[in-house]
Amino acid sequence: MRSLVRETSLSASQFVLPLFARPGRKLRRAVNSMPGVFQLSPDEIVVEARLAFEAGVPAVLLFGIPDVKDERASGAYAPRGIVAQTVRLLKKELPELLVITDVCLCEYMSHGHCGLVEKRGSAVRVLNDPTLKLLARAAACYADAGADIIAPSDMMDGRVAAIRQELDRGGHLETPILSYAAKFSSAFYGPFREAAESAPHFGDRRSYQMDPANAAEALREVALDIQEGADMVMVKPALAYLDILYRVKAEFGLPTAAYAVSAEYSMIKAAGAQGWIDEKAVTLESLLAIRRAGADIIITYSAVEAARWLKSNK
Ligand SMILES: [Zn+2]
Repeated sequence: MRSLVRETSLSASQFVLPLFARPGRKLRRAVNSMPGVFQLSPDEIVVEARLAFEAGVPAVLLFGIPDVKDERASGAYAPRGIVAQTVRLLKKELPELLVITDVCLCEYMSHGHCGLVEKRGSAVRVLNDPTLKLLARAAACYADAGADIIAPSDMMDGRVAAIRQELDRGGHLETPILSYAAKFSSAFYGPFREAAESAPHFGDRRSYQMDPANAAEALREVALDIQEGADMVMVKPALAYLDILYRVKAEFGLPTAAYAVSAEYSMIKAAGAQGWIDEKAVTLESLLAIRRAGADIIITYSAVEAARWLKSNK
């Protein structure tokens, strides 16, 4: 009877698995703060993506970690850069797998900020408009490589329009944009910065990411991204921002993604390892709550495990 009247369903078909690509072969470098998560060379990404796909997870979200970083994030838009290279390989080996590419510059910048930086004495400014061109170049480069969805996460103003224009100019008229529309300046990203090696070396990201106190502003950010051409929007983090997720879905009705971020994953893993919580039950309950709040798409490091748990629960 419970299953007849259940309001919310959770299925692996809604999951997206984030993966971290770095140059090399047969490389699996464990991320200490995220048990079960690795930086992987492209060949190992294919192994991991195949496991996910076979478990019922339809999509991956790619991040790149280049060998060399500089002050113009050249690695982000190099035609043979790590993400472009990995996308090509994935589309060749697993053509049915949906490949989403994160678009940001922080992993490729020597200073770790998401945009170009101007330093004057001790004052640091992230330059919004000059950054847009580089983001658009990166997006076009991934689309050229075969990416199915482009997902800008930088939070610069105007980047969705800039990316849309560049994609269209390059003939990628049908490549959708999933914008990280409401991305908060959150302490829940801590473990990710080890995974992506993207911690800023000075300052913080509060001048471009959102204040966790602001919900109305989140709705305005989402509205702007939709106006600029976003096809899908994202709220990040997920669990501590379910009210935002609910309001975004209710207000705009667009396909809406939620990113269950690194600390959401690591906290459950750590407490589970101690035997303080039931890891499986807490993971599935968290994902269900994210669905209930309005997410159509859930980006989660637990995608493969959760997919298997859901199968074995049936
Ligand atoms: Zn970034």
